[in-house]
Order: sequence, then C-alpha cells, then structure tokens
Amino acid sequence: MWTIAGEGIHPIHEKKLTSSIAVEDLKLPDKVVIPLSQHIGAPCEPLVKIGDHVKKYQKIGEPKGFVSAPVHASISGKVIAIGRFSHPSGNQSQSIVIESDGKDEPIDGLAEHRDYLNLDPKELKDIIVNAGIVGMGGATFPTHVKLSPPKEKKIDVVILNGAECEPYLTADDRLMTEMPGEVAEGMKILMHIMGVKEGYIGIEDDKPGAIEAIRKAIAGTSIRLITVEKKYPQGAEKQLIKSVLGKEVPSGGLPMDIGVIVQNVGTAVAIYNAVRYGIPLIERIVTVTGHGIKRPGNFRVRIGTLLEHVITECGGLVGDPGKIIFGGPMMGIAQYTLHVPVLKGTSGVLVMPKEEVLLEDFRACIRCGRCVQACPIRLLPNMYSVLAEAEKPKEAEKYYVLDCIECGCCTYVCPSGRPIVHQIRYIKAEMRKAKNKVA
Ligand code: SF4
Ligand code: SF4
Repeated sequence: MWTIAGEGIHPIHEKKLTSSIAVEDLKLPDKVVIPLSQHIGAPCEPLVKIGDHVKKYQKIGEPKGFVSAPVHASISGKVIAIGRFSHPSGNQSQSIVIESDGKDEPIDGLAEHRDYLNLDPKELKDIIVNAGIVGMGGATFPTHVKLSPPKEKKIDVVILNGAECEPYLTADDRLMTEMPGEVAEGMKILMHIMGVKEGYIGIEDDKPGAIEAIRKAIAGTSIRLITVEKKYPQGAEKQLIKSVLGKEVPSGGLPMDIGVIVQNVGTAVAIYNAVRYGIPLIERIVTVTGHGIKRPGNFRVRIGTLLEHVITECGGLVGDPGKIIFGGPMMGIAQYTLHVPVLKGTSGVLVMPKEEVLLEDFRACIRCGRCVQACPIRLLPNMYSVLAEAEKPKEAEKYYVLDCIECGCCTYVCPSGRPIVHQIRYIKAEMRKAKNKVA
C-alpha cells in the first residue's frame, strides 16, 4: 500500500455522515459578502461602487500584483456596501456586499472553447488567472502562480490530490464520484500547460465510489490512479508526493524543487469549467457536517454565502454548538460569528456539539514522545510546545519549526492536552514579526 513517511495518525473518521449524500445546490442567499482577499497574496481592488448593479460572473475585484486572484459576483443584484466585514480567518476584511435581485442573471457571452487542448499554454494560464482560480483544497494559493515556476525548475509530474484525509469532509469524494470526467479533463489541461507526460491522481482507499469513477474516466489516457492508505495527513502536499512518487521535498523547499506540481481535484474541475465554458470560480462544493447540524450533506454553495444562511438551509443547529469550524477538525478554523462568508477555500462547515469539545486546561509535558512519533515530518513538536510556553520562539528555528505543516497530529495524540499547533502558530507569527522588524 502506498503511504506516508512518519507515523501519522488514524483520527475518528465520521465521513459516513455525508459520504453517500449526493451534491445538492444550496438555496441561493438573499445577499453575499465577497471578501477581496480569499487567497494567499495581495488583496484585490474593488471594480464596483455602492449602488452598481452587477451580474453573476462579473469581475468585481481586480488583483493587485502577480500573486493575487480576481473575485467575481456570485449572484446578480445591487452592491449595497463595500467595507470591512468578518472574515473566516478571524480578522476583518475589505468585502463587497451584493443584495440579490432574485434573477441570478449571468453576464453575456462567456468565452467557450470546445478544442481546449489545442490552446496555447499561455492562453490557458490567462483563462485561469481571469477566472480567479486558487487552490481549493484550502491553501488558496493562486493557481496561475503555481503553474508558472521559474525557468530553472523543470516540471516532470502533475499530481491531483484526491486524498481528502481530513475527518468528516467528503466534498472531494463526491466531486470525484459525480464529476470524474471533469476531473480527468482538468488534469489533461494541467498536463498540457506544464508540458508533462506523467500525471497521477492520488485517492485514499476509503473512497471506493470515487476510485471506480476516476478509474473509468482515465481509462486509455496517460493518467495513473494511485490508491493511498487511509491515514492522516495523507493529503498534505509533501506527504502525497512521498506516497505517490517515493520522493521527498527538501527541508524549506517546494514541490517544484523536485519537478512536481500538486493541485486539488476541485481545482482541476474549476480549471475545466473556466477553460471549456468560460465560467469563473463563483461556487464550490462544501460538506456541511457534524452531530450539531440537523441536515448534514454536500452542497454546491455560492462564494460569499453567509454561514448563517448555510446553517438555516441545513435545518438549523441541534442544541447549542460547542464549536463551528470552517474546514475539518484537524486543520480548520473555529468561527466566532455566523456572519462569515463561504470562501473559495471553504471545503467544509463542521458543527460540533458541546459534549464533543474538550474544554480542559492543558497540563505539563510528560515527555512521552507520542507527538514525535506521530509527526509526519519527523519534527520535535514537544520542543516547540515547551519553547512557546517559555516565551522563547526564536530558539525553535534551529529545530526546523518552519517545516511544520500544522497538520495537528501532535496535538491530537498529546495525553496532556497541550495546544501544540497553536503554540507553533504563535512561534511562526513571532518569527515573522521579528523578520519584518529587521527588514
Ligand atoms: S503540526 Fe507540525 S509538529 Fe505537529 S505533527 Fe504536524 S507537522 Fe509535526
Ligand atoms: S505528546 Fe504531549 S506530553 Fe507527550 S512529549 Fe509530546 S508534548 Fe509532551
């Protein structure tokens, strides 16, 4: 069985809550709040003003700089506000608020391409930039940037990430099961852009429906399906490369350093839709799940839809929630208000009831070594935890803290309940602050 280096973990799975539920269109909201920053890189500048009428797919935010991505109206209606609104990151972010006119009217003349595999790679990349496509696995790195490595970095392999190792989440599973043809075509476009002959799709072995559907869709092509062991964090970029190719990305390096580009399966479908039909990224599949929501499922949700609307359309909450998380329980971000919008990178909404949330204080490190054993990068999480507590973030650098992928395995196994990932994030933030001061 293809698998990751390092021990990793087998956390509670809970995918059965939604894995067999087909994707359904969520009812359109009355308004959307579209942040101008939904990606890694520079935020966009608004292209509209209060009072303007906009149509679905219309570009409303212009990227400033190469590492950025435009944003588009996800419904038709009137711009009623532009200002700072709650963002799922926990901060406030400059956003455009559109009130629906109830028509869902698209712009005229989307640029379709039937013969897309004969387009020039440069033209394909331009389509991807203009469609506002970013990594939909959660990283939200602008896709066109990943597809433009420096000349000296020769890319030989494209890997599509369909591992979806986060507990509870099934959005990618359903996407591969229901849209395997689009995944395969998106992969062909990516391989054509990068000029590579080797393409792999990595899927965890707990998704038999997706595996079968993808196997059929890629039959007769040069794309290879790799079934990887169900183990967390199998879907982390560097771990998947190790599982699929047996190659390791060097410390501090990127996949392109060893000639590899990894994209999420959802990103591949967004690329296909943009290239074939001219459709910009205005919606995504979101798994709404957990024992704290009445009607779990997989939903096609317009970008900018507020959490409040998502919860209402899923039947509401079961009692008082202990935690509502955007993403999965291992790497997701807890939300403090229902007035946050679904973004391009929102793969899930997890509602955990109070009894499932640990509220105890953490205790002293007993040096059991479980976190070290679980770490897929083979780091020393115990050291980071102790150094953060002792307010010595700088010292963590010599223990390669920057290689940490924040997967949460260490926190999950710690018998002392230590918030190791939070402590690592604190260390990284302090290191960034110190670096900015020097600069
Ligand atoms: S969060 Fe970082 S230190 Fe902890 S297990 Fe994951 S990679 Fe290792
Ligand atoms: S798992 Fe927790 S208690 Fe054990 S060594 Fe790591 S930080 Fe310490």
